[in-house]
Amino acid sequence: MPVRIEDAAHASPPPGAKRMFIKSYGCQMNVYDGLRMAELLAPMGYGLAPTAEDADLIVLNTCHIREKADDKVFSDIGRLRREAAPGAIIAVGGCTGQALGASIMQTAPAVQVVFGPQTYHRLPTLIEKITTGQLKRAVDTDFPELEKFDNLPTPGAYGPTAFVTIQEGCDKFCTYCVVPYTRGAEISRPAAHIIQEVETLAQQGVKEVTLLGQNVNAYQHEGYTLASLCEAVGNVPGIARIRFTTSHPNNTGDDLINAFATNPKLMPYFHLPVQAGSNRVLQAMNRNHTAESYLATIARIRQVNPDIAISGDFIVGFPGETEEDFEQTLQLAANVGYFGAYSFAYSPRPGTPAAELPGQVPELTKKERLAALQAVLDHTTADYLTRFVGQTLPVLIEGENEHPERYGPQLRGRSPHNAPVNISYPPGTNARSLIGQIVQVHITQSAAKSLVGELTAA
Ligand code: SF4
Repeated sequence: MPVRIEDAAHASPPPGAKRMFIKSYGCQMNVYDGLRMAELLAPMGYGLAPTAEDADLIVLNTCHIREKADDKVFSDIGRLRREAAPGAIIAVGGCTGQALGASIMQTAPAVQVVFGPQTYHRLPTLIEKITTGQLKRAVDTDFPELEKFDNLPTPGAYGPTAFVTIQEGCDKFCTYCVVPYTRGAEISRPAAHIIQEVETLAQQGVKEVTLLGQNVNAYQHEGYTLASLCEAVGNVPGIARIRFTTSHPNNTGDDLINAFATNPKLMPYFHLPVQAGSNRVLQAMNRNHTAESYLATIARIRQVNPDIAISGDFIVGFPGETEEDFEQTLQLAANVGYFGAYSFAYSPRPGTPAAELPGQVPELTKKERLAALQAVLDHTTADYLTRFVGQTLPVLIEGENEHPERYGPQLRGRSPHNAPVNISYPPGTNARSLIGQIVQVHITQSAAKSLVGELTAA
């Protein structure tokens, strides 16, 4: 992960300073939110603690998308109740906070603050009220549209890449998904604010931005679409690369597809979830697209760029999924030839329509189907990467290899297609000076999920 929470505030606060520990679970939007929380709390005098047990304030920035993620939060709360420093404040934010706020307050007396993804800008006020004794416990799970973004501090840069949230929420209501309930309706940030945030990041050395949204390609604000926003972001001096995630097939219009040909800064990587290969299952999921329409969209994208990396998301074992349905998912995965797709066993989420559906698939069957799908995805990923062996690629250097004792001194970076690249370099190279640069790398090998190469020229 290029952006680390440890970088968001002073890692070693002066003796006697207050210390915070922020743990973000789940998606990239939570990583972005966790960084912003650290920036919000730093002016209150909070530096980062190395562990939760050392902290005066512990923030669990949670994910509610799967049952396992919720279980992890409750197990962390239980552990912290025993192990946190006396007097430490435990706050639960993110989507679990939004969805289960009242029940967390009821079942977990150790938790003093609960807030949602749309109210974390109010965290300093909530913490102030707790520390000054104005409140003993506080819950804030409103949905104030865009207020949050107007109240966040200037973003900091923590390396050559950065996330920028441009859109939040979702109106699609897939029957398995909690996002429309936890993040609210689709809203898009004004383009001018986004461009200003990107300019600030670029001035701090950021070269690559990933534009984030639950339905990022539904972005729409005052005439801007995602394609025209990418164009505007590409005009910011210093920005060399743009990516975006996560997209819905139904919002993938021609202007966005054509941008992969016309906007040289838009990197050839498209994360386009499909979830299942069977139309029966897609209909039960309320995806509002078919396997055929999804494949037609992939074909349109590949017409513009045949080499583009396609990633995706899959859910196996959705209620009512038969062996035949699952075979269609395997077939679709093999046909698309994904690079690094995410796959999960279906987990019923309370309050979603799918949780009430008959025909819940036994856990063992889900596990077996997941293993079979992951084997196909591993194969397509490794196969996709082989095409780059022998090529010279521009790679954005993100840092040094964290295990030089195992692999020798290497740099690590990302190819345009979002493949991690491990790069060896000649003795005498000032490797550190290359961090943040885009360098030419000759690819010598492909591995299961990454590429290996040699530095050719800075
Ligand atoms: S489109 Fe994505 S975020 Fe929206 S409901 Fe479906 S899975 Fe959830």
